[in-house]
Amino acid sequence: MINGELKVKSPIRWAMVGGGRGSQIGYIHRSAAVRDNSFQLVAGAFDIDPARGRDFGVSLRVDPQRCYPDYQTMFEAEARRPDGIQAVSIATPNGTHYAISKAALEAGLHVICEKPLCFTVAEAEELRALAEEKDRLVCVTYGYAGHQMIRQAKAMIRNGDLGEIRMVNMQFAHGFHSEAVEEANPSTRWRVDPRFAGPSYVLGDLATHPLYLSEVMLPELKISRLMCSRQSFVRSRAPLEDNAYVMMEYEGGVMGTLWASAVNAGSMHGQKVRVIGSKASIEWWDERPNQLLFEVQGKPSQTLERGMDYLYPEALEDDRIGGGHPEGLFESWSNLYYRFALAMEARDRGDRAMAGNLDIPQIGAGVEGVRWVENCLRSADNGAVWIDYE
Ligand code: NAD
Repeated sequence: MINGELKVKSPIRWAMVGGGRGSQIGYIHRSAAVRDNSFQLVAGAFDIDPARGRDFGVSLRVDPQRCYPDYQTMFEAEARRPDGIQAVSIATPNGTHYAISKAALEAGLHVICEKPLCFTVAEAEELRALAEEKDRLVCVTYGYAGHQMIRQAKAMIRNGDLGEIRMVNMQFAHGFHSEAVEEANPSTRWRVDPRFAGPSYVLGDLATHPLYLSEVMLPELKISRLMCSRQSFVRSRAPLEDNAYVMMEYEGGVMGTLWASAVNAGSMHGQKVRVIGSKASIEWWDERPNQLLFEVQGKPSQTLERGMDYLYPEALEDDRIGGGHPEGLFESWSNLYYRFALAMEARDRGDRAMAGNLDIPQIGAGVEGVRWVENCLRSADNGAVWIDYE
C-alpha cells in the first residue's frame, strides 16, 4: 500500500518540456510526479511560446529564473547549477520527441518521454544506445501500465488461471474525432498533420497503449507476422489514418487483433484488452479500470475488484485507498512516476537491476512501439498484406 511515506531519499529535481497552459497531458504528468513527493518541479520550458511558458511556470511556483524560453537553454543553464535538474519529462507534440530526448540524454538527464518515442526504429535504437552510453533511464508514459489490475492480469496469466493463451484482442477506439474537430482544436490539429505527428495518427497515438498493456500482461509473446489496414474516414486527414485494424500472429500460434480508431462515434475511450485462454478469459477496460472481468467457461462471470484480498499480492502493492473507492488514471500515472523515481534513484547509485523489476515502460517499450507502427505501415501501405515482422 502506498501511504505517502517517502521511499525516494530526496525528491528528484525535475523539469518539463511542454505540458504548458492549455495542453492536454501536462497536468497529468505534474500531478503524477508530485503525488508521492518523488519528484520536485524546479524548472521548465513549458511552451512553444516563451512568454506564455514563463508566465505559466511562474503560476506553478517555479522560480522565474528557471522558466526557460526553450529546452536547449534549459539544459545548458541547469547543467551549470550545483542544484540543476536530474530528470526531465517531455510532453510536446510527437515530432519533437527525438530531438529533445537526445539533447536531454546528452545533458546527462534521466528522460520521461511521451509516446511515440520517435518516428523510426533507427532513431529509437540511437536513443537506446545513447541512454546506455550515458547510463540514464528513458521511460515512456503508457499511463495505464501503472494500474494494479494490469498487474493482476499479468499474474493470472503467468499462474495459468486462463489455461493456455490462445488470443489477445485489443482496442483503443474513441469517437472524439468523428468530425474534423482539428479545424477548431490546436491539440488535435498537429495530430493529423504528418509534419508534427509523423507517419501515422491512431496507430502511434492510440494503438501503442493497449499494445503495451498486452506486452506487460504477456511478456513472452513475440509477433511473427502482421497485417494492417488503415483508413482516413475524415478525408482531409489522409495520408494519416483515423481508423486502423491490425491482425497479428505470435510465435507459438497465439493470435491477436487490435482496432484503433478516433472515429468510433459515440464511444468515450474504448480502450480494452481481452486475453482468451483455453479455460477462461479476462478483460480490462480503461473506463472501468478497477474491475477485471474473469470469465471461466461454463461458470458465471466474475468481476474482480481492485483492492480486495483475493487478488495476487503484486496487484495490492500500489493501492492508495481500499477497494470500492474508485482509483483510476491519476493513481495509475502516479504509480508509474513513483516507480520511475525508484528506478532513477537506483540507477544513480549504480543499481541497474532494480528498474528491470519494476514493471515500468522503459526505452525497450519505446523502441518496440515505434517498431510495431513501422511494421503496420509497411503492411497497410502495400495493400494490407501479411508481412513478416521485422
Ligand atoms: P498539446 O498540443 O495539447 O500540448 C503540447 C504542449 O507542448 C503545449 O503546451 C505547447 O506549447 C508545448 N510545446 C510544443 N512544442 C514545444 C517545444 N518545442 N518546447 C516546449 N514546449 C513545446 O499536446 P498534448 O495532447 O498534451 O500531447 C503532448 C504529447 O503527449 C504528445 O506526444 C501526445 O502523443 C502525448 N499524449 C500522451 C497521452 C498518454 O496517455 N500518455 C495522452 C495525451 C497526449
